[in-house]
Amino acid sequence: MNYHVDSNGYYGKFGGAYIPEMLYPNVEELREQYLDIIAEDAFQEEFNALLKDYVGRPTPLFLANRLSEKYGAQIYLKREDLCHTGAHKVNNTIGQIILAKKLGKKKIIAETGAGQHGVATATVCALMGIDCIVYMGEVDMARQKPNVERMRILGAKVVPATSGSKTLKDATNEAMRHWINNPKDTHYIIGSVVGPHPYPDMVTRFQAVISAEMKTQLKEKTGNEDPDYVFACVGGGSNAAGSFYHYLDNESVKLVAVEASGLGVSSGKSAATTALGKSGVLHGSKTLLMQTPDGQVVEPYSISAGLDYPGIGPMHAHLFDTKRVEFLSATDEEAMQAGIELSRLEGIIPAIESAHAFAALSQMKFDASDVVVINLSGRGDKDLDTYIKWGKY
Ligand SMILES: *Cc1c(COP(=O)(O)O)cnc(C)c1O
Repeated sequence: MNYHVDSNGYYGKFGGAYIPEMLYPNVEELREQYLDIIAEDAFQEEFNALLKDYVGRPTPLFLANRLSEKYGAQIYLKREDLCHTGAHKVNNTIGQIILAKKLGKKKIIAETGAGQHGVATATVCALMGIDCIVYMGEVDMARQKPNVERMRILGAKVVPATSGSKTLKDATNEAMRHWINNPKDTHYIIGSVVGPHPYPDMVTRFQAVISAEMKTQLKEKTGNEDPDYVFACVGGGSNAAGSFYHYLDNESVKLVAVEASGLGVSSGKSAATTALGKSGVLHGSKTLLMQTPDGQVVEPYSISAGLDYPGIGPMHAHLFDTKRVEFLSATDEEAMQAGIELSRLEGIIPAIESAHAFAALSQMKFDASDVVVINLSGRGDKDLDTYIKWGKY
């Protein structure tokens, strides 16, 4: 079975580039050049140097003793929460900003829902001295005020999207429109393994540093670079893609993706895409998405803003379809409890997105010798208000 992208941008029957004609030159320029640029020595040197000295990589792989005891396995945490800006998203924005420079681009645009990708983009634009515009739904701007101000402090211009439901989808439309009108000097940084080809593959390659490091670190700590399990939460799927990437072809490593089921898979308030979704086109690629029988995208819901997305990247749709990855889900309540449990057992307050991956532990039956890696995609500082409102600790 092939789990990798083909030259047309497909993973099995998912992927591709379903874009308006006007966007074709921009996407085509990127498609023609991304692999060559990423392979250049100069690119790799700059990327690796920034990941090391700016982001703080390699992030530690930590043996969580008390969590291991509770679940009867050897559980390691991949500490993406310790990345600069507090999550894995910066791995991708560093890669794309270097790529944008090599393409001769002078401006960056991005869209953001919860604001985390906007902050990661504004961060690397400040670092490189490049103009940055972030499109964000007006409703999201009101909900995510601290991230709006972070972006502004970093020097980005945050532009409200005022059409439709005034959320992520509308911000994406605005960003696309901007890109169509400014194809020559602007690069569009997408924040997850979604969008038209080559974005899903490009973002996966930048995030793949996570599983590359896991292999070296596991070899050092256990003598074997392959664990029995890797767990990651899935919104669009970038932290999961990065944690799975170097294990995809080794079927002895079980890969587990955890979606947000909100108030329950069949509650009507959920973001459990593989449980509820059907094939369709979202943000320029063919993938699984939550939709009504007549093909309208269903508004997703999760307590965690980063998992509140109606689709998943096309690679994950294929990994689900081929059963290479097992998809589980966790409700708001289960994730919040798992977040508190990790705080109490290991002294680490996780992002609520990441807490969903931990909530899946109680759904598993491990052998005592199993080596389990959980990708701890981000830290919980940004979620303090949500923890306080939930209140049960
Ligand atoms: C954005 C975010 C996610 C979800 O995005 P993916 O592309 O699925 O990784 C998960 N965890 C954290 C901490 C995030 O900020």
